[in-house]
Amino acid sequence: MGVEAARDEFVRDLDEVERGRLAAYLREADKARFLLGVTLVRRVLAQRFSLPAARVVLDRTCPACRKPHGKVRAAGVELSVTHSGDLVGIAVADRPVGLDVEKVDLGVDVEAVARVALTDAEMRELSGYDGVAKARAFTTYWTRKEAVVKATGEGLRGDPRAAVPDGVQVRDLEVGVEHCAALAVVSGERPVVQVHDGARLLG
Ligand SMILES: [Zn+2]
Repeated sequence: MGVEAARDEFVRDLDEVERGRLAAYLREADKARFLLGVTLVRRVLAQRFSLPAARVVLDRTCPACRKPHGKVRAAGVELSVTHSGDLVGIAVADRPVGLDVEKVDLGVDVEAVARVALTDAEMRELSGYDGVAKARAFTTYWTRKEAVVKATGEGLRGDPRAAVPDGVQVRDLEVGVEHCAALAVVSGERPVVQVHDGARLLG
């Protein structure tokens, strides 16, 4: 969903850690993206657990240093939050999940980044595209990789040229012409994926 839907009233449902983080963002666009991500997580879990959004307990404890800047977690569900460009997305699942959205960057030197980021098979596929289609294809591969590292928890230590590990399922999601998105789930079976427009939760 789009960041323009961010509203000051959403701040009321935030906890102290979230308010601190919101205040620390310097750019309005970053504030809006963060606020929308938190609000979507709170409202989706509020529905699921029949609670007011402000009473949903979210945990961002960093496993390395115990400070509250880690990946968002909640008891009983697996979560992933992503934002890029004008889009914010969250994934809620019953097993480890990674969601990634990226705005297609037409200014990037695709060939140069592709060499360090893509597998040989992806490089061969990419060579069949030109211009905007090439930038989009690269972004599609990139979102798949990001989704996988978010699902498996490897973070930035993962090698982008590695193949998708066994037991991880990846799906591309359709999010319009300006962005690409992918979802990864740690699962032996193809996941059942339902996509909803978050706007209906924000009205
Ligand atoms: Zn830390």
